[in-house]
Amino acid sequence: MSWPTIQKTPSQFKSQANLLDYEFTRSTFTWQQAQRELQGLPNDGGLNIAHEAVDRHAQGATANKLAMRWLGKNGEVHEFTYQQLHRLTNRFANVLQNLGIAKGDRVFALTGRVPELYFTALGTFKNRSVFCPLFSAFGPEPIKARINLGEAKVLVTTETLYQRKVAAIRDALPSLKYVLLLGTGQELTSIPGTLNFHQLMRESNEEFTIQPTDPEDIALLHFTSGTTGTPKGAVHVHGAVVAHHITGKYALDLHEADVFWCTADPGWVTGTSYGIIAPLTNGVTMIVDEADFDAERWYRILQEQKVTVWYTAPTAIRMLMKAGAEVAKKYDLSKLRFLASVGEPLNPEAVAWSHKTYGLPFHDNWWQTETGGIMIANFASMDIRPGSMGKPLPGIEAAIVNKNPAGKIEVVTTPDVQGELALRPGWPSMFRAYLNEPARYQKCFADGFYLTGDLARQDKDGYFWFVGRKDDVIKTSGHLIGPFEVESILLEHPAVAEAGVIGKPDPTAMEIVKAFVSLKSGYEASDALRKELLGFARARLGAVVAPKEIEFRDKLPRTRSGKIMRRLLKAQELGLPIGDTSTLEES
Ligand code: AMP
Repeated sequence: MSWPTIQKTPSQFKSQANLLDYEFTRSTFTWQQAQRELQGLPNDGGLNIAHEAVDRHAQGATANKLAMRWLGKNGEVHEFTYQQLHRLTNRFANVLQNLGIAKGDRVFALTGRVPELYFTALGTFKNRSVFCPLFSAFGPEPIKARINLGEAKVLVTTETLYQRKVAAIRDALPSLKYVLLLGTGQELTSIPGTLNFHQLMRESNEEFTIQPTDPEDIALLHFTSGTTGTPKGAVHVHGAVVAHHITGKYALDLHEADVFWCTADPGWVTGTSYGIIAPLTNGVTMIVDEADFDAERWYRILQEQKVTVWYTAPTAIRMLMKAGAEVAKKYDLSKLRFLASVGEPLNPEAVAWSHKTYGLPFHDNWWQTETGGIMIANFASMDIRPGSMGKPLPGIEAAIVNKNPAGKIEVVTTPDVQGELALRPGWPSMFRAYLNEPARYQKCFADGFYLTGDLARQDKDGYFWFVGRKDDVIKTSGHLIGPFEVESILLEHPAVAEAGVIGKPDPTAMEIVKAFVSLKSGYEASDALRKELLGFARARLGAVVAPKEIEFRDKLPRTRSGKIMRRLLKAQELGLPIGDTSTLEES
């Protein structure tokens, strides 16, 4: 069924949209001019993310404005003004200096959404070291792989996470020099080989001068997953802040008076670009909630915090739909004025539901770890076609492309023809490398385009529509999981001969991780063994990455070259005729 367009009329705006005239802004936009909205370091010292996010405001009229209100799991509230954030991030930059951590050194964080995570990220930018967040629900194996690939020198984590996930693998992390621990209570147990984060902060000076930072200096490392091989470390630079800022302004419509809540975890790219950087560069007050999803809690936060702009993900929206409109009606959500969503396809029902329930539709937008910022969006001033990702940001050229018989990339000019979504390189937050993997990086580019790995189509009016992934990566609750990482761990179990991992469609999480396993001779398929394998994978990979389902097979289908045909396993799972795998990915 096709869903009616949601038309925007000026009366629907509670404030003037930042992007009022899409076509005009697109035709006149330049990245140089966008950069002029930022300040730059004094004395032509370049561009540093933390200066634009924090120091610029701390030195100006908004010094005492609330930058972040943190809501703890147990009801605690901590508030930080721009000025306080300035001092705390200075302290963390000095902590790094005092430990001898230099420009370019990698500082990893493995924490929940706690205030110290924000000091760590921003203080690391100030020191011109490289910040790399890890998702706290990762198990020891994904943590080990990423710390070693990224050659982390410093890890900031909590006492609990350290004991549960890091202590046992510490000997296998040769680059790691310092572990800075956050206590769960007042007191920190003294654990050999670790330092006390708070003590180091107390002992450090709250003055810090950011040294000249070239916009091309590396600021961030974000791991993402491919179909094969190890996780890929997408490298981002300080100059990306121009894109963070302008996309926050145009795609999320951030105004200084906004109270903004991005529900993403900073362990993933959305939680960094839009959970830390963009809201601060735009000078808003951001809400950070430590707790996990809970429909009533979320509505209470929207009401009590008077949230005006809310950025979340389709899985959460579907869970709110499940909780029902009656729950929403109990709360006063009248301060909300703009809703946006990212990470997976946002089904048109969800857009229509939110429009009916909140009086406001969700605005879907599209981007990925590699793009560093939002590339395609439904803007506040633009009519929404439910199910569409919207139109490219000013400064972004997006196209649908296909390979011609000669192997050349050609732009599809006929509307509604499916192809690969491609972008013209050159925007500031584009990834500059996959860490230490130049060949893998080069493979993403052809004939003047960055190839995103997503399949999409564009309609005659320029709206982009997501079709699917070109490869076998899995999207579960908005998190990108590489099947290879899961298969490798299953193969470490003595009973497992072969493993093939796919995304199984799920009405809420979009996909769940499902593994097909064949056993070595001498092992019998049984419920007990299934449970053992599920537990084995969960202990090593963590809850988000581990399979939720395991199915035993005598043998797994393979290509002639010996690769497991995930595509076929998926076709079987979907009940498609085995011969008809045309809608699935290339094997
Ligand atoms: P990640 O790099 O983990 O942020 O994942 C990026 C991938 O998520 C994209 O390449 C898409 O496959 C998917 N994705 C992100 N946003 C959307 C969206 N609005 N609609 C459909 N898929 C999306």
